[in-house]
Parts: sequence; C-alpha cells; structure tokens
Amino acid sequence: MKQVILADIKQMAIQAKPALLQAAQRYGWPIKVYLHWTAGHYDQYFSDYHFNIGKDGSVFVSTNDLSEKKNHTYFRNSGAVGIAAACAYNAHSCGDLGPEPPTDVQIEAIAQIIAVLSKALNIPIDIEHFMTHAEAADNMDGCDPGYEENGYPQGKYGPQNSVERWDLWVVKAGDKPGTGGDILRGKGIWYQQNGVG
Ligand SMILES: [Zn+2]
Repeated sequence: MKQVILADIKQMAIQAKPALLQAAQRYGWPIKVYLHWTAGHYDQYFSDYHFNIGKDGSVFVSTNDLSEKKNHTYFRNSGAVGIAAACAYNAHSCGDLGPEPPTDVQIEAIAQIIAVLSKALNIPIDIEHFMTHAEAADNMDGCDPGYEENGYPQGKYGPQNSVERWDLWVVKAGDKPGTGGDILRGKGIWYQQNGVG
C-alpha cells in the first residue's frame, strides 16, 4: 500500500477515466464509486479496494491504476472505484458499530475523495454515482446488475433485505438508519464547493 494525497488521487483519476468509462459503458452504467467499511480492524488494509483509509485519515492505494478491476462490490466492479474506511470490526447494528467505529477523520477523508473524484471523473455527487455498499446492495440506484439470478430475493442483499452487507448505512452508532450515504455525499458536495478537487 502506498500513501497518497488528494493531488495524487486527482492525477490517478484523470489518467484512469477513459478506461473506467469504457468498462462502465459496456454494462450501460456510468462510472460509479462505492463507499465501504472493511469490517476489519483500524489500519488493516485490503487490496480489494483501490483506496484504504486509516484510523487517522491517511489514504493508501493498493494500485496506481484506478481502472484496475477490484473485488469490492458484488457484480458492480466494472468501471467502478472502491473506497474503504478501515474500521467497523464486529459492527452488529446501526446502534452498535463495534469497538472500532468509523472515525471522524475517516468520514472526512471519504468526503474529500468524493469531491476530488467527482471533478476528475466528471460525475455528479449523487446516489447514481457515489453509493455506500449498503445502498448498492439494495440497488438503491435502480441498477440491478443481476443478483436475482444468483439467488438473492428481489435481487437485493442489503440492509433492507438480507443484511449481508450494510457498509456505511450509518456513519455513527445511533444515527437514523440509512443516513450514511446522504451524509457522505453532503460532505463531499461541501468540500467541492469549498475548493477541494
Ligand atoms: Zn463493502
């Protein structure tokens, strides 16, 4: 893993954009960015994501090529970028994010990366382009990549269904269920309006 700053991320995104776009268009969807927690320990990083964010907000990349297909979001990895906050070990419910919940600086770091990627990849900050894994698992962008054929009832496996994945459904223990995506996108928009990206 290599540590990067926002200027590096911007350059990487500009370079990867044509290949990301080509891969996404084969499936008829736009470039999408998926927001995760690892469900592991703080500062335990995984190469399944392009970006891992440490407890202190430091950002690490597992590749120099953001168009490299990674394994982060079931059936949605083509033309997609995966960002993960390293946290949420033993998270059980929206009221119990375990002993290693997302830190404030991890949340801000995700939002800053959203701001940078939005501009560099020319995609707006909305649920069609920036989704939590929780939202993606419930197909909340209206894009069903085919989970139903693989045995998921109603083609969904997220927090409103079988709850197999619910990354960032909330960003803080006790928050209203389902608010995590809007909080992250809202912060991303704020950073963008304040010159980040
Ligand atoms: Zn995930």
